[in-house]
Amino acid sequence: MFEDITRVSQMAKNALQNNPNVINATIGVLLDDNGDILYSEIFDSIIPTLTPKEKYPYEDVLGSKDIKDNLLKFLKQEKFKEKENFNMITAGGTGALSNVISAFKENAGLIVSDLCWVNYLTIAKNFGVETYKYELFKNEGLNIEGFKGALEQAVMEKDNVIVIINTPSQNPTGYDLTNEEMQEVTEIVNGYVKYNKKITVILDIAYYNFGINQNLDAFLNLDENVILAIAYSFSKSFGIYGFRLGSLTLVGKGVAELEKLFYTQSRTKWSNPNKLGCSVLGKVLSNNDNIEKVYQEIKNHTAILENKTKIFKSALDKFGIKTFPFTNGFFLSIPVEDAENVALELSKNDVYLTTVEGGIRVAISGVASYRLEELAEKIAKVINK
Ligand code: PLP
Repeated sequence: MFEDITRVSQMAKNALQNNPNVINATIGVLLDDNGDILYSEIFDSIIPTLTPKEKYPYEDVLGSKDIKDNLLKFLKQEKFKEKENFNMITAGGTGALSNVISAFKENAGLIVSDLCWVNYLTIAKNFGVETYKYELFKNEGLNIEGFKGALEQAVMEKDNVIVIINTPSQNPTGYDLTNEEMQEVTEIVNGYVKYNKKITVILDIAYYNFGINQNLDAFLNLDENVILAIAYSFSKSFGIYGFRLGSLTLVGKGVAELEKLFYTQSRTKWSNPNKLGCSVLGKVLSNNDNIEKVYQEIKNHTAILENKTKIFKSALDKFGIKTFPFTNGFFLSIPVEDAENVALELSKNDVYLTTVEGGIRVAISGVASYRLEELAEKIAKVINK
């Protein structure tokens, strides 16, 4: 029951109505200590300046040129422009992920880690795509043999092979892959090109701006026959979750010819992205001054998040609680034996969080900093019982 985020988050909201002591550690949204969303004030300040023409017509199916042309510059990933590429705006990061999986769903296998964002599995199931799981960690880093094993099995059994790598600030662990790990992943994937299967690597960078390691250069070394699909979300970096803005950048030989296929994916799901959101974002991304201001806002928000993680981590250390490998991020996860029971016990102590494979996930992002020590103590009490 506690693996179902929507359900647990509803339970937390209901409990909060009668009891202000409830700690809701389910929310993947960055909040300040008053419980308000930390959003981009630059983005917000542009909204009232828009004309009706900038708000109400349909947006282009693939999104506005202003955003597409400036996206890789904004992400400081212009090196990917040197390769064949095309960009589109999607309904959140979820739209980008869903489009790739649905576009390549025929006899497809999706390689995911056991600790992953559960929606990957839901999307795969929805499009009839089989999942191949590997254990994410070995010792304190990526379980590279496990990754290779899952990939090999999928390559042997399927025509379409889709790998998802979520870095930096992985959900649910907050782990950033190191440059060496990214390089190893790239080399392993390249080693399977000879089997002539269609291989796509989705790089899910939903939490990119909050990550410590934002260097994605290793993926420039992917074989040109592998498609790299960079899925980005404006939800987190701009704090505009409800606007549903994300992007997809496809890199690799022949991707320009896939435009029609991807146009159809969007057209048949959300048809065209949010016009108002695209107009505002276009004005931000096409103006260097605005970009600099947004970087500063993100820096300030990252500092708030880092402060929260510092408080929580040192409290966990104090109570002797170990976490899965963690770098920075909205979430961290704690390995526990009977996660369902631990989550249930915690809910009886006014703490709501979700379970993951072999552990519990704490969404530090949504908890007020002054309650994090208490949260760690309550978790420790249940785990150490
Ligand atoms: N990827 C991961 C790992 C996420 O956790 C999320 C959202 O929680 C997304 C992608 C999608 O973000 P959105 O569709 O809200 O932009």
